Amino acid sequence: MLYPANTPVHDIPIQPSVIVPAGWGIGTALTPMGAGPYPVPAAGSTTHFAATNVEQLEDSPVITGQYFHEFPLAPTITPRHFIDVVADYPEDASLRPEVLTALNNLVREGDALFASHHYNAYHFLLTLSDVAGGEGLEHGQSSDNGVDEKELSDDAHQLAEAELLPHEFSHSWNGKYRRPAGLYQPDFATPQQGAMLWVYEGMTQYLGNMLAARSGFETPAQYRDLLAMSAADLDYKPGRDWRSTGDTAIAASILRGSSPAWSNWKREQDYYREGNLFWLDADTLIRKLTQNKKSLDDFQKIFLAKGGNTGPLIVPYSFDELVQDLNAVVPYDWAAFLHDRVDKINPRADLGGIEQGGYKLVYKDKPNPSERTIEAMAAPRSRGVDSWYSLGLRNWTEGTIIDVRWKSPADKARLAPGEKIIAVNGQIFSGDAFLAAIRAAKGNSEPIHLIVQADRFVSLVDVDYHDGERYPVLERVEGAPDYLDDITKPLTVPEKPPAPPKKDE
Ligand SMILES: [Zn+2]
Repeated sequence: MLYPANTPVHDIPIQPSVIVPAGWGIGTALTPMGAGPYPVPAAGSTTHFAATNVEQLEDSPVITGQYFHEFPLAPTITPRHFIDVVADYPEDASLRPEVLTALNNLVREGDALFASHHYNAYHFLLTLSDVAGGEGLEHGQSSDNGVDEKELSDDAHQLAEAELLPHEFSHSWNGKYRRPAGLYQPDFATPQQGAMLWVYEGMTQYLGNMLAARSGFETPAQYRDLLAMSAADLDYKPGRDWRSTGDTAIAASILRGSSPAWSNWKREQDYYREGNLFWLDADTLIRKLTQNKKSLDDFQKIFLAKGGNTGPLIVPYSFDELVQDLNAVVPYDWAAFLHDRVDKINPRADLGGIEQGGYKLVYKDKPNPSERTIEAMAAPRSRGVDSWYSLGLRNWTEGTIIDVRWKSPADKARLAPGEKIIAVNGQIFSGDAFLAAIRAAKGNSEPIHLIVQADRFVSLVDVDYHDGERYPVLERVEGAPDYLDDITKPLTVPEKPPAPPKKDE
């Protein structure tokens, strides 16, 4: 994008237009001009949009495609909401009724939770494609979402991406309307300062997961399974010994897209999921302090609804305003609460929210049902074998090591990312043979024998590990308040998907 220098992008007017191939549909939050044919323009015509400014143009992408469908959502809610879908195949652009029901619920839940809107109309832009998928980018009046072609074709496939649309939608409030001061610059050439991404992304991660459950993209049990997996991953992250969560936000541009090799020691963009844990801690703490009369929902109504309904607008905030708004819900030393979790070195993850929520993180010898579903639905290219909490390895199904957990039994045996396990206990490597070897070594002194290839060299490696398979699960603590279940309860009366047609016997 070229624009005049030394002028705030918000002050540069522009009138956009676009020409697309004949028969292609257009999805965008830009406002079309006149009564022209839209969203599928006449062949050869130019679609003109209302005058806007460069800041809004940059924040309003267009998706276009031959297999295109626009669905209006939750018609009783103003302003209006739409989902615009493009797909590689025509049948996929017609979303199944269950997805549209969850989207209608999501729009109503967002309306109830945030008690304000900061857009003229909202467009979920969705690309279903095995070549163009794999994205999630927030905008003020739209979001650009891409998943595999069949990702939303049934509940099981959907689980891995259940929080994508709720997450990006929440960003319209948290991130786009309310923005940490360092993350708002007057033009696109001035670098952004990511120090408060643990609110921008961390709280959005919390909101997205919560709204996914409240809207029916996932069940409360699935919400808890996914929370267990995320909490365990953070709790077994040795890089916590030297790097604070706040530093993962400051280093976001380096950590994004970096190699998975030793990512547990470097840490990743942990401010997303760390934020999920400590905003859950804040939510359950507010519930505990107020006998469940108040919650983080009340905070959203103050922090994200300031100024009431607006059009597209960016209102920056400081750390002090965040603390002040938390204190308006319930007085507490919120500055210390946040500093402890963001700026300090914490060798263990914050599991306080799970425990105050009435559950505890435990390890079982079988993966929880959601982990099994996600693994079974994964495309062959992204299917793995998980022995992270036992041996300390993440492998692809053909044996290549993705990552080795620092100081784990696998690390002590000097295994390294990029090596390939060729054989286990005398058998050619397979996921089943590998997990069977971990089970067989349980409770005895015989190590697990591996043959490992590194480049063109082959070696014998013995791993001394005898505690069997371990996978994270949340377990209910009987008698404790179950705030975690209150958190996933919808605020509105959910719409039910239409009943499937009756089958004749
Ligand atoms: Zn995000």
